[in-house]
Amino acid sequence: MTVPPLQSRHLATEIPGPGSVQLARRRAAAVARGVSSTLPVYVARAGGGVVEDVDGNRLIDLGSGIAVTTVGNAAPRVVDAVRRQVAEFTHTCFMVAPYEGYVAVAEALNRLTPGQFEKRSVLLNSGAEAVENAVKIARSYTRRPAVAAFEHGYHGRTNLTMALTAKAMPYKSGFGPFAPDVYRAPGSYPYRDSLIDAELARDGRRAAERTIGVLENQIGADNLAAVVIEPIQGEGGFIVPAPGFLPALLAWCRDNGVVFIADEVQTGFARTGAMFACEHEGMAPDLICTAKGIGGGMPLGAVTGRADIMDAPHVSGLGGTFGGNPVACAAALGALAAVEDDDLVGRAGQLERLMFQRLKRLQADDDRIGDVRGRGAMIAIELVRPGTSEPDAELTKALAAACHRAGVIVLTCGTSGNVVRLLPPLTISDELLSEGLDVLAGELGRL
Ligand SMILES: *Cc1c(COP(=O)(O)O)cnc(C)c1O
Repeated sequence: MTVPPLQSRHLATEIPGPGSVQLARRRAAAVARGVSSTLPVYVARAGGGVVEDVDGNRLIDLGSGIAVTTVGNAAPRVVDAVRRQVAEFTHTCFMVAPYEGYVAVAEALNRLTPGQFEKRSVLLNSGAEAVENAVKIARSYTRRPAVAAFEHGYHGRTNLTMALTAKAMPYKSGFGPFAPDVYRAPGSYPYRDSLIDAELARDGRRAAERTIGVLENQIGADNLAAVVIEPIQGEGGFIVPAPGFLPALLAWCRDNGVVFIADEVQTGFARTGAMFACEHEGMAPDLICTAKGIGGGMPLGAVTGRADIMDAPHVSGLGGTFGGNPVACAAALGALAAVEDDDLVGRAGQLERLMFQRLKRLQADDDRIGDVRGRGAMIAIELVRPGTSEPDAELTKALAAACHRAGVIVLTCGTSGNVVRLLPPLTISDELLSEGLDVLAGELGRL
Protein backbone atom coordinates (compact mmCIF):
# COMPACT_ATOMS: atom_id res chain seq x y z
CA MET A 1 0.00 0.00 0.00
CA THR A 2 1.05 3.58 -0.59
CA VAL A 3 1.64 5.54 2.58
CA PRO A 4 0.32 9.11 2.49
CA PRO A 5 2.79 11.81 3.51
CA LEU A 6 2.65 13.02 7.12
CA GLN A 7 0.09 15.78 7.43
CA SER A 8 2.40 18.60 8.44
CA ARG A 9 4.46 21.33 6.81
CA HIS A 10 8.14 20.49 6.97
CA LEU A 11 11.17 22.14 5.39
CA ALA A 12 14.01 19.62 5.19
CA THR A 13 16.13 21.75 2.81
CA GLU A 14 16.00 25.11 1.11
CA ILE A 15 13.30 25.24 -1.56
CA PRO A 16 14.21 24.01 -4.11
CA GLY A 17 16.44 21.35 -2.54
CA PRO A 18 19.33 19.56 -4.27
CA GLY A 19 17.16 16.78 -5.73
CA SER A 20 14.80 19.29 -7.33
CA VAL A 21 17.68 21.40 -8.63
CA GLN A 22 19.15 18.36 -10.34
CA LEU A 23 15.80 17.45 -11.92
CA ALA A 24 15.36 21.04 -13.10
CA ARG A 25 18.67 20.73 -14.99
CA ARG A 26 17.54 17.52 -16.71
CA ARG A 27 14.20 19.12 -17.49
CA ALA A 28 15.77 22.19 -19.11
CA ALA A 29 17.58 19.90 -21.56
CA ALA A 30 14.55 17.70 -22.28
CA VAL A 31 11.27 19.55 -21.90
CA ALA A 32 10.01 22.29 -24.24
CA ARG A 33 10.33 25.66 -22.54
CA GLY A 34 6.74 26.57 -23.45
CA VAL A 35 5.62 24.31 -20.61
CA SER A 36 6.28 26.06 -17.32
CA SER A 37 5.79 25.07 -13.67
CA THR A 38 4.61 27.22 -10.79
CA LEU A 39 6.69 25.41 -8.17
CA PRO A 40 10.46 24.89 -8.23
CA VAL A 41 10.17 21.50 -6.48
CA TYR A 42 9.68 18.04 -7.97
CA VAL A 43 7.02 15.86 -6.38
CA ALA A 44 7.58 12.44 -4.81
CA ARG A 45 4.10 11.86 -3.32
CA ALA A 46 1.03 13.69 -2.13
CA GLY A 47 -2.15 13.18 -0.13
CA GLY A 48 -4.53 14.80 2.35
CA GLY A 49 -3.44 18.41 2.35
CA VAL A 50 0.26 17.88 1.69
CA VAL A 51 2.65 17.55 -1.27
CA GLU A 52 6.05 16.00 -0.50
CA ASP A 53 9.02 16.69 -2.77
CA VAL A 54 12.04 14.58 -3.70
CA ASP A 55 14.10 16.23 -0.93
CA GLY A 56 11.61 15.38 1.80
CA ASN A 57 10.08 18.88 2.01
CA ARG A 58 6.37 18.77 2.80
CA LEU A 59 4.31 21.64 1.44
CA ILE A 60 0.75 22.56 2.40
CA ASP A 61 -1.35 22.16 -0.75
CA LEU A 62 -3.64 25.13 -1.38
CA GLY A 63 -3.75 24.46 -5.14
CA SER A 64 -4.99 20.87 -5.71
CA GLY A 65 -3.11 20.80 -9.03
CA ILE A 66 -5.50 23.55 -10.23
CA ALA A 67 -8.75 22.36 -8.66
CA VAL A 68 -8.27 18.73 -9.69
CA THR A 69 -7.58 16.73 -6.53
CA THR A 70 -10.75 17.87 -4.79
CA VAL A 71 -11.10 14.46 -3.10
CA GLY A 72 -7.41 14.53 -2.10
CA ASN A 73 -4.34 13.30 -3.92
CA ALA A 74 -4.09 9.51 -4.36
CA ALA A 75 -7.45 9.28 -2.57
CA PRO A 76 -7.94 5.69 -1.34
CA ARG A 77 -11.21 5.15 -3.25
CA VAL A 78 -9.62 6.42 -6.46
CA VAL A 79 -6.46 4.36 -5.99
CA ASP A 80 -8.46 1.16 -5.28
CA ALA A 81 -10.73 1.67 -8.28
CA VAL A 82 -7.81 2.40 -10.60
CA ARG A 83 -5.82 -0.61 -9.34
CA ARG A 84 -8.72 -2.93 -9.95
CA GLN A 85 -9.50 -1.56 -13.42
CA VAL A 86 -5.92 -1.31 -14.64
CA ALA A 87 -5.43 -5.01 -13.93
CA GLU A 88 -8.59 -5.98 -15.85
CA PHE A 89 -8.14 -3.95 -19.05
CA THR A 90 -6.62 -0.57 -19.81
CA HIS A 91 -8.25 0.35 -23.12
CA THR A 92 -10.53 -0.98 -25.79
CA CYS A 93 -11.79 2.35 -27.18
CA PHE A 94 -15.45 2.93 -26.31
CA MET A 95 -16.10 3.48 -30.04
CA VAL A 96 -14.79 -0.05 -30.74
CA ALA A 97 -15.76 -2.24 -27.78
CA PRO A 98 -17.78 -0.49 -25.05
CA TYR A 99 -17.69 -1.17 -21.30
CA GLU A 100 -19.78 -0.46 -18.21
CA GLY A 101 -17.55 2.19 -16.57
CA TYR A 102 -18.28 4.73 -19.31
CA VAL A 103 -22.03 4.17 -19.02
CA ALA A 104 -21.87 4.40 -15.21
CA VAL A 105 -20.00 7.73 -15.34
CA ALA A 106 -22.56 9.10 -17.81
CA GLU A 107 -25.37 7.96 -15.50
CA ALA A 108 -23.67 9.63 -12.51
CA LEU A 109 -23.20 12.90 -14.41
CA ASN A 110 -26.81 12.89 -15.62
CA ARG A 111 -27.96 12.38 -12.02
CA LEU A 112 -25.61 14.87 -10.31
CA THR A 113 -25.89 17.84 -12.69
CA PRO A 114 -28.71 20.35 -12.09
CA GLY A 115 -31.97 20.03 -14.07
CA GLN A 116 -34.83 17.53 -13.76
CA PHE A 117 -34.98 16.89 -17.52
CA GLU A 118 -33.78 13.88 -19.52
CA LYS A 119 -30.00 14.09 -20.05
CA ARG A 120 -27.16 12.51 -21.98
CA SER A 121 -23.38 12.71 -21.59
CA VAL A 122 -20.30 12.26 -23.75
CA LEU A 123 -16.88 11.56 -22.20
CA LEU A 124 -13.62 13.14 -23.39
CA ASN A 125 -10.07 13.69 -22.20
CA SER A 126 -9.82 17.26 -20.96
CA GLY A 127 -11.62 20.48 -20.20
CA ALA A 128 -10.71 22.04 -23.53
CA GLU A 129 -12.03 19.00 -25.36
CA ALA A 130 -15.26 19.19 -23.37
CA VAL A 131 -15.75 22.83 -24.38
CA GLU A 132 -14.91 22.06 -28.03
CA ASN A 133 -17.52 19.30 -28.07
CA ALA A 134 -20.17 21.42 -26.34
CA VAL A 135 -19.76 23.99 -29.12
CA LYS A 136 -19.97 21.26 -31.80
CA ILE A 137 -23.17 19.95 -30.21
CA ALA A 138 -24.72 23.43 -29.90
CA ARG A 139 -23.93 24.25 -33.53
CA SER A 140 -25.33 20.93 -34.68
CA TYR A 141 -28.53 21.52 -32.67
CA THR A 142 -29.13 25.17 -33.63
CA ARG A 143 -27.65 25.11 -37.14
CA ARG A 144 -26.18 28.51 -36.27
CA PRO A 145 -22.48 29.44 -36.48
CA ALA A 146 -21.63 32.07 -33.84
CA VAL A 147 -20.44 31.51 -30.27
CA ALA A 148 -20.12 34.13 -27.54
CA ALA A 149 -17.61 34.08 -24.70
CA PHE A 150 -16.84 36.70 -22.05
CA GLU A 151 -14.21 39.10 -20.84
CA HIS A 152 -11.88 37.35 -18.38
CA GLY A 153 -13.05 33.96 -19.63
CA TYR A 154 -10.76 30.93 -19.84
CA HIS A 155 -11.70 27.77 -21.71
CA GLY A 156 -8.47 26.02 -22.72
CA ARG A 157 -5.54 25.94 -25.12
CA THR A 158 -6.83 24.22 -28.26
CA ASN A 159 -7.55 26.41 -31.28
CA LEU A 160 -11.26 26.92 -30.64
CA THR A 161 -10.82 27.30 -26.88
CA MET A 162 -7.96 29.79 -27.38
CA ALA A 163 -10.43 31.82 -29.42
CA LEU A 164 -12.91 31.61 -26.53
CA THR A 165 -10.26 32.55 -23.96
CA ALA A 166 -9.87 36.24 -23.18
CA LYS A 167 -6.26 36.60 -22.08
CA ALA A 168 -3.52 37.01 -24.71
CA MET A 169 -0.44 36.25 -22.60
CA PRO A 170 0.45 33.48 -22.12
CA TYR A 171 -2.46 31.65 -23.74
CA LYS A 172 -2.85 33.12 -27.24
CA SER A 173 0.01 35.38 -28.25
CA GLY A 174 1.68 34.11 -31.42
CA PHE A 175 -0.65 31.11 -31.77
CA GLY A 176 -3.27 32.56 -34.14
CA PRO A 177 -5.15 32.73 -36.41
CA PHE A 178 -7.98 31.59 -34.18
CA ALA A 179 -11.30 29.89 -34.94
CA PRO A 180 -13.77 32.25 -36.62
CA ASP A 181 -17.24 33.33 -35.47
CA VAL A 182 -16.25 33.66 -31.81
CA TYR A 183 -17.30 36.92 -30.12
CA ARG A 184 -16.60 38.44 -26.72
CA ALA A 185 -19.04 40.27 -24.51
CA PRO A 186 -18.62 41.99 -21.14
CA GLY A 187 -19.70 39.93 -18.13
CA SER A 188 -20.16 40.88 -14.50
CA TYR A 189 -17.13 41.74 -12.33
CA PRO A 190 -18.54 43.38 -9.19
CA TYR A 191 -15.22 44.67 -7.78
CA ARG A 192 -14.16 46.35 -11.05
CA ASP A 193 -17.70 47.31 -12.09
CA SER A 194 -18.16 49.14 -8.76
CA LEU A 195 -15.41 51.55 -9.80
CA ILE A 196 -17.58 52.60 -12.75
CA ASP A 197 -21.14 52.25 -11.49
CA ALA A 198 -22.25 50.99 -8.06
CA GLU A 199 -25.59 49.81 -9.43
CA LEU A 200 -23.93 47.71 -12.14
CA ALA A 201 -21.86 45.98 -9.47
CA ARG A 202 -24.83 45.24 -7.19
CA ASP A 203 -27.55 44.34 -9.66
CA GLY A 204 -26.69 41.45 -11.95
CA ARG A 205 -29.69 42.20 -14.17
CA ARG A 206 -28.14 45.57 -15.05
CA ALA A 207 -24.89 43.86 -15.97
CA ALA A 208 -26.86 41.31 -18.02
CA GLU A 209 -28.59 44.13 -19.94
CA ARG A 210 -25.18 45.44 -20.96
CA THR A 211 -24.12 41.93 -22.03
CA ILE A 212 -27.31 41.21 -23.94
CA GLY A 213 -27.03 44.53 -25.75
CA VAL A 214 -23.65 43.44 -27.12
CA LEU A 215 -24.95 39.99 -28.09
CA GLU A 216 -27.97 41.43 -29.92
CA ASN A 217 -26.19 44.29 -31.65
CA GLN A 218 -22.82 42.77 -32.50
CA ILE A 219 -23.79 39.15 -33.24
CA GLY A 220 -27.57 38.94 -33.54
CA ALA A 221 -29.46 36.25 -31.64
CA ASP A 222 -30.40 34.47 -34.88
CA ASN A 223 -26.75 33.85 -35.65
CA LEU A 224 -25.80 32.74 -32.15
CA ALA A 225 -25.51 29.00 -31.43
CA ALA A 226 -24.32 29.29 -27.84
CA VAL A 227 -22.91 31.36 -25.04
CA VAL A 228 -20.03 29.72 -23.16
CA ILE A 229 -19.61 30.99 -19.63
CA GLU A 230 -17.94 30.00 -16.37
CA PRO A 231 -20.43 30.52 -13.52
CA ILE A 232 -17.44 31.67 -11.47
CA GLN A 233 -14.50 32.66 -13.64
CA GLY A 234 -11.36 30.73 -12.71
CA GLU A 235 -8.17 31.77 -14.51
CA GLY A 236 -9.73 35.21 -15.05
CA GLY A 237 -9.57 35.92 -11.30
CA PHE A 238 -12.20 33.95 -9.33
CA ILE A 239 -14.83 36.44 -10.38
CA VAL A 240 -18.27 35.79 -8.89
CA PRO A 241 -20.85 37.65 -11.03
CA ALA A 242 -23.38 39.92 -9.36
CA PRO A 243 -26.50 38.04 -8.22
CA GLY A 244 -29.05 37.81 -11.02
CA PHE A 245 -26.54 38.13 -13.86
CA LEU A 246 -26.42 34.46 -14.84
CA PRO A 247 -30.20 33.81 -14.53
CA ALA A 248 -30.96 36.88 -16.68
CA LEU A 249 -28.51 35.69 -19.33
CA LEU A 250 -29.98 32.17 -19.19
CA ALA A 251 -33.52 33.56 -19.60
CA TRP A 252 -32.42 35.56 -22.64
CA CYS A 253 -30.81 32.45 -24.15
CA ARG A 254 -34.04 30.45 -23.63
CA ASP A 255 -36.12 33.22 -25.25
CA ASN A 256 -33.81 33.33 -28.26
CA GLY A 257 -33.03 29.67 -28.86
CA VAL A 258 -29.39 30.10 -27.82
CA VAL A 259 -27.75 27.13 -26.07
CA PHE A 260 -26.44 28.10 -22.61
CA ILE A 261 -23.15 26.25 -22.02
CA ALA A 262 -21.84 26.40 -18.44
CA ASP A 263 -18.11 25.73 -18.29
CA GLU A 264 -17.88 24.11 -14.85
CA VAL A 265 -14.47 22.58 -15.54
CA GLN A 266 -12.97 24.40 -12.53
CA THR A 267 -16.10 24.95 -10.40
CA GLY A 268 -17.67 21.48 -10.64
CA PHE A 269 -17.92 18.61 -8.14
CA ALA A 270 -18.33 20.31 -4.74
CA ARG A 271 -15.54 22.85 -5.25
CA THR A 272 -17.73 25.91 -4.66
CA GLY A 273 -19.86 24.51 -1.84
CA ALA A 274 -22.48 23.11 -4.22
CA MET A 275 -22.14 20.11 -6.51
CA PHE A 276 -22.11 22.64 -9.40
CA ALA A 277 -21.70 26.42 -9.15
CA CYS A 278 -24.83 27.01 -11.27
CA GLU A 279 -26.87 25.71 -8.32
CA HIS A 280 -26.00 28.82 -6.27
CA GLU A 281 -28.35 30.71 -8.59
CA GLY A 282 -30.86 27.88 -8.99
CA MET A 283 -29.89 27.40 -12.63
CA ALA A 284 -30.06 24.36 -14.88
CA PRO A 285 -27.89 25.10 -17.94
CA ASP A 286 -28.56 23.40 -21.27
CA LEU A 287 -25.06 21.91 -21.38
CA ILE A 288 -22.41 21.60 -18.65
CA CYS A 289 -18.72 21.02 -19.37
CA THR A 290 -16.74 19.21 -16.68
CA ALA A 291 -13.19 17.92 -16.26
CA LYS A 292 -10.58 18.82 -13.57
CA GLY A 293 -12.17 17.53 -10.33
CA ILE A 294 -14.09 14.69 -11.97
CA GLY A 295 -11.52 11.92 -11.72
CA GLY A 296 -9.40 12.50 -8.62
CA GLY A 297 -6.43 13.36 -10.83
CA MET A 298 -7.01 11.04 -13.77
CA PRO A 299 -7.63 12.82 -17.10
CA LEU A 300 -11.31 12.90 -18.03
CA GLY A 301 -13.72 15.49 -19.39
CA ALA A 302 -17.41 15.43 -20.17
CA VAL A 303 -20.33 17.28 -21.67
CA THR A 304 -23.69 16.66 -20.01
CA GLY A 305 -27.01 18.21 -20.94
CA ARG A 306 -30.52 18.14 -22.32
CA ALA A 307 -31.09 14.94 -24.26
CA ASP A 308 -32.57 16.69 -27.31
CA ILE A 309 -29.52 18.96 -27.64
CA MET A 310 -26.97 16.25 -26.83
CA ASP A 311 -28.52 13.92 -29.39
CA ALA A 312 -28.47 16.47 -32.22
CA PRO A 313 -25.12 15.33 -33.74
CA HIS A 314 -25.38 12.38 -36.12
CA VAL A 315 -24.25 8.90 -35.08
CA SER A 316 -20.40 8.76 -34.99
CA GLY A 317 -20.19 12.56 -35.00
CA LEU A 318 -18.73 12.59 -31.46
CA GLY A 319 -15.95 10.57 -29.87
CA GLY A 320 -12.19 10.12 -29.76
CA THR A 321 -9.67 7.34 -29.22
CA PHE A 322 -9.14 7.82 -25.49
CA GLY A 323 -12.38 9.59 -24.51
CA GLY A 324 -13.83 7.93 -21.41
CA ASN A 325 -10.81 5.67 -20.92
CA PRO A 326 -11.78 2.79 -18.61
CA VAL A 327 -9.13 3.59 -15.98
CA ALA A 328 -10.18 7.26 -15.92
CA CYS A 329 -13.82 6.19 -15.62
CA ALA A 330 -13.02 3.90 -12.68
CA ALA A 331 -11.19 6.80 -11.03
CA ALA A 332 -14.18 9.08 -11.61
CA LEU A 333 -16.58 6.59 -10.03
CA GLY A 334 -14.27 6.41 -6.99
CA ALA A 335 -13.93 10.19 -6.81
CA LEU A 336 -17.66 10.83 -7.19
CA ALA A 337 -18.38 8.28 -4.45
CA ALA A 338 -15.99 10.19 -2.19
CA VAL A 339 -17.67 13.53 -3.02
CA GLU A 340 -21.12 12.16 -2.18
CA ASP A 341 -20.39 9.81 0.72
CA ASP A 342 -18.05 12.20 2.57
CA ASP A 343 -20.34 15.23 2.06
CA LEU A 344 -17.58 17.24 0.40
CA VAL A 345 -20.17 19.86 -0.57
CA GLY A 346 -20.62 20.56 3.14
CA ARG A 347 -16.87 20.43 3.71
CA ALA A 348 -16.31 23.08 1.01
CA GLY A 349 -18.72 25.34 2.90
CA GLN A 350 -16.68 24.91 6.09
CA LEU A 351 -13.46 25.75 4.27
CA GLU A 352 -15.14 28.82 2.77
CA ARG A 353 -15.97 30.18 6.22
CA LEU A 354 -12.46 29.51 7.51
CA MET A 355 -10.76 31.20 4.54
CA PHE A 356 -13.17 34.14 4.28
CA GLN A 357 -12.91 35.02 7.97
CA ARG A 358 -9.14 34.95 7.97
CA LEU A 359 -8.73 36.85 4.70
CA LYS A 360 -11.36 39.48 5.53
CA ARG A 361 -9.49 40.17 8.79
CA LEU A 362 -6.28 40.46 6.82
CA GLN A 363 -7.94 42.85 4.35
CA ALA A 364 -9.12 45.12 7.19
CA ASP A 365 -5.46 45.84 8.08
CA ASP A 366 -3.97 45.86 4.60
CA ASP A 367 -5.11 48.22 1.87
CA ARG A 368 -3.20 46.23 -0.74
CA ILE A 369 -6.01 43.64 -0.60
CA GLY A 370 -8.60 45.21 -2.88
CA ASP A 371 -11.07 42.35 -2.79
CA VAL A 372 -11.69 39.00 -1.09
CA ARG A 373 -14.06 36.80 -3.06
CA GLY A 374 -15.04 33.35 -4.22
CA ARG A 375 -17.21 30.49 -3.08
CA GLY A 376 -16.56 27.28 -1.17
CA ALA A 377 -12.98 26.09 -1.44
CA MET A 378 -12.36 28.53 -4.30
CA ILE A 379 -11.35 31.79 -2.61
CA ALA A 380 -9.03 34.56 -3.82
CA ILE A 381 -7.58 37.93 -2.90
CA GLU A 382 -7.09 40.63 -5.53
CA LEU A 383 -3.95 42.68 -4.84
CA VAL A 384 -3.70 46.37 -5.73
CA ARG A 385 -1.32 49.27 -5.10
CA PRO A 386 -1.99 50.65 -1.60
CA GLY A 387 -5.23 52.58 -1.40
CA THR A 388 -5.94 52.34 -5.16
CA SER A 389 -7.58 49.78 -7.42
CA GLU A 390 -4.51 49.52 -9.67
CA PRO A 391 -3.57 45.83 -10.14
CA ASP A 392 -0.27 44.82 -8.52
CA ALA A 393 1.07 41.83 -10.42
CA GLU A 394 4.61 42.17 -9.00
CA LEU A 395 3.38 41.94 -5.42
CA THR A 396 1.24 38.94 -6.39
CA LYS A 397 4.19 37.14 -7.94
CA ALA A 398 6.44 37.94 -5.00
CA LEU A 399 3.84 36.77 -2.49
CA ALA A 400 3.29 33.46 -4.28
CA ALA A 401 7.05 32.84 -4.51
CA ALA A 402 7.50 33.66 -0.81
CA CYS A 403 4.74 31.22 0.13
CA HIS A 404 6.36 28.51 -1.98
CA ARG A 405 9.73 29.02 -0.25
CA ALA A 406 7.93 28.82 3.09
CA GLY A 407 6.28 25.53 2.16
CA VAL A 408 2.79 26.58 1.06
CA ILE A 409 1.47 26.02 -2.47
CA VAL A 410 -0.66 28.92 -3.67
CA LEU A 411 -1.54 29.78 -7.28
CA THR A 412 -2.05 33.10 -9.00
CA CYS A 413 -4.58 34.10 -11.64
CA GLY A 414 -6.42 37.14 -13.02
CA THR A 415 -6.32 38.88 -16.37
CA SER A 416 -3.88 41.35 -14.82
CA GLY A 417 -2.01 38.63 -12.90
CA ASN A 418 -2.85 40.23 -9.55
CA VAL A 419 -4.98 37.56 -7.87
CA VAL A 420 -3.79 34.93 -5.38
CA ARG A 421 -6.17 31.99 -5.45
CA LEU A 422 -6.69 29.25 -2.93
CA LEU A 423 -8.00 25.85 -4.02
CA PRO A 424 -7.26 23.43 -1.19
CA PRO A 425 -8.21 19.78 -1.50
CA LEU A 426 -11.41 19.22 0.47
CA THR A 427 -9.57 16.59 2.49
CA ILE A 428 -7.25 19.16 4.09
CA SER A 429 -7.55 19.55 7.88
CA ASP A 430 -8.64 22.86 9.42
CA GLU A 431 -5.26 23.01 11.18
CA LEU A 432 -3.23 22.69 7.99
CA LEU A 433 -5.41 25.20 6.15
CA SER A 434 -5.10 27.68 9.04
CA GLU A 435 -1.35 27.24 9.07
CA GLY A 436 -1.25 27.85 5.33
CA LEU A 437 -3.25 31.06 5.76
CA ASP A 438 -0.93 32.15 8.62
CA VAL A 439 2.05 31.70 6.31
CA LEU A 440 0.31 33.68 3.56
CA ALA A 441 -0.48 36.51 6.00
CA GLY A 442 3.05 36.49 7.42
CA GLU A 443 4.70 36.59 4.00
CA LEU A 444 2.40 39.39 2.81
CA GLY A 445 3.28 41.35 5.94
CA ARG A 446 6.98 41.10 5.08
CA LEU A 447 6.56 42.38 1.49
C1 LIG B 1 -8.81 24.38 -16.86
C2 LIG B 1 -10.00 24.87 -17.54
C3 LIG B 1 -10.30 24.49 -18.86
C4 LIG B 1 -9.38 23.66 -19.69
O1 LIG B 1 -9.24 22.38 -19.17
P1 LIG B 1 -8.01 21.46 -19.66
O2 LIG B 1 -8.29 20.14 -19.01
O3 LIG B 1 -6.77 22.12 -19.18
O4 LIG B 1 -8.09 21.40 -21.14
C5 LIG B 1 -11.48 24.96 -19.41
N1 LIG B 1 -12.31 25.73 -18.72
C6 LIG B 1 -12.07 26.11 -17.46
C7 LIG B 1 -13.05 26.96 -16.73
C8 LIG B 1 -10.90 25.71 -16.83
O5 LIG B 1 -10.63 26.11 -15.58
